[in-house]
Amino acid sequence: MFSCHTDSPAETAALAELVGKKVHEGTVFCLEGDLGAGKTLFVQSLAHTLGVTGEVTSPTFNLMNVYEGICPIFHFDLYRLESVEELEDIGFFEYTEDPEGIVLIEWADKFPECLPENYVRLCIEHDPAEENGRIFTFTSIGSKQQKLVEELGRLVHTGN
Ligand code: ADP
Ligand code: MG
Repeated sequence: MFSCHTDSPAETAALAELVGKKVHEGTVFCLEGDLGAGKTLFVQSLAHTLGVTGEVTSPTFNLMNVYEGICPIFHFDLYRLESVEELEDIGFFEYTEDPEGIVLIEWADKFPECLPENYVRLCIEHDPAEENGRIFTFTSIGSKQQKLVEELGRLVHTGN
């Protein structure tokens, strides 16, 4: 687990770029944080780093967007989700257990019982001391993404 801080949307985009250098197919990111924390901004920047050229917007009403980058990128937003059945209907579990691509889930913590065994949990918090400050905490859940989180921590803190 590690934490880091950004002071602006541009710095959050730069953080997402670093993450994009290390992330590989098969990784699920579960993003947690209040409205306006920066989940969508982080996903947009990460998707663009991963080669997505089109628009990346939060799938608040349709639950999922798929983008084509270096691999398929599945972007979920569970904010308006009301039942687990809706997740089954869109094939959520097939996408998130052993995914063939990279999966990014906003508001994942709304349905904790639906999350896969292995994922990177990314909590974004407002820094109470600074209007544009955000605190990012990356945690590996399950053992599969442990190495990735360690590598990311090193890259973010030491630059290599
Ligand atoms: P969420 O998806 O978590 O609801 P968004 O990414 O849609 O949040 O919005 C984040 C908002 O906060 C944007 O308007 C962005 O410009 C602003 N913002 C200010 N400072 C930061 C920062 N350090 N990191 C990310 N977003 C920031
Ligand atoms: Mg959002």
